[in-house]
Amino acid sequence: MITNSKEETKALGEKLAAYLRPGDVILLSGDLGAGKTTFVSGVAEGLKCGEDVISPTFNILKCYFNGTLPMYHIDAYRLEGQNMELGLEEYIEGDGACFIEWPKYIESLIPDERLEMYLFHEGNSRRIEIKGVGKRGEELEKELKGL
Ligand code: ADP
Ligand code: MG
Repeated sequence: MITNSKEETKALGEKLAAYLRPGDVILLSGDLGAGKTTFVSGVAEGLKCGEDVISPTFNILKCYFNGTLPMYHIDAYRLEGQNMELGLEEYIEGDGACFIEWPKYIESLIPDERLEMYLFHEGNSRRIEIKGVGKRGEELEKELKGL
């Protein structure tokens, strides 16, 4: 998929929000500035979290409890090369939907069923590739693609 503005990327997140269920896991890969956090902020609007999503780079985990579904936003960027036991398991496949930026840094915590998203800069546009893994991942992929 291609988005041509920040608003379009957020709108895609808002669309996904309607399909989310407890336990869903969405992985977001792509360089700094690719639009991962922007996408999650669209999801938060869709879930009516009532709060702006800020990049959790310096927090690793941010929880949003005021929406129609708990939303957990993990940014594993700062965990690169570290092997820390942080208890993030509780939030992954927990009672809400969990979004993970830089999943490659917490590989051992990634569940079998998930929606993988890859974001690429192309000028002012973003190319967004999505791939569902496992039964639930495939369902979410179809829903987001509108199939
Ligand atoms: P990441 O979390 O991947 O590091 P952010 O979402 O924090 O990226 O930042 C993306 C930046 O790119 C924002 O400043 C946003 O305004 C800008 N931007 C420009 N075009 C787009 C687009 N089509 N989709 C998302 N963000 C965009
Ligand atoms: Mg980010």
